[in-house]
Amino acid sequence: MVVAVYPGSFDPVTKGHIDIAERAAALFDELIVGVYASPAKQIMFSTEERVELLKKALFHLSNVRVESFTGLTVAFAKRSKADVIVRGLRMGSDFEREFEMAQMNKRLAPDVELACFMTRSGYEFVSSSLLKEICDLGGSIDEFVPAEVAALMKEKFGHKNR
Ligand code: ADP
Repeated sequence: MVVAVYPGSFDPVTKGHIDIAERAAALFDELIVGVYASPAKQIMFSTEERVELLKKALFHLSNVRVESFTGLTVAFAKRSKADVIVRGLRMGSDFEREFEMAQMNKRLAPDVELACFMTRSGYEFVSSSLLKEICDLGGSIDEFVPAEVAALMKEKFGHKNR
């Protein structure tokens, strides 16, 4: 039985995140998606909103559950009795960040492994931050997020996208 955690800010969840969760859920027995309750970066959606949107987006995956957490990712993994941390990789800069974090996490928790999934072709440029920027400027983000997320983003950004 291999348990994995997939941590992130998910501010908000995108189809890139959903793709990684689907592929990880197919590979591991149980996947716990962990929403950082207080990420270092500025966030737009509350922890409750981010968790709820993820729960709806991943409802079709029976071996996946969504939780929020604070503190170290490795501590969350240990509490969850997880063997693996799942992350997604888009471009080179993701790799550099993951590489650095992975080295530190291995020191902190030597028995927790990291599994990185390469982004699916077509999602390599999809990030929550870029989609927020596009939406703020009046562009369409419908292709890259679930319908409910698109509606909520438009609402948060006000009249520009109506
Ligand atoms: P964080 O704040 O930890 O970077 P994110 O919510 O931005 O969290 O992303 C969570 C994880 O999902 C990260 O490993 C990130 O690289 C990955 N990810 C985000 N968008 C995509 C995408 N379009 N394709 C593949 N992986 C992605």
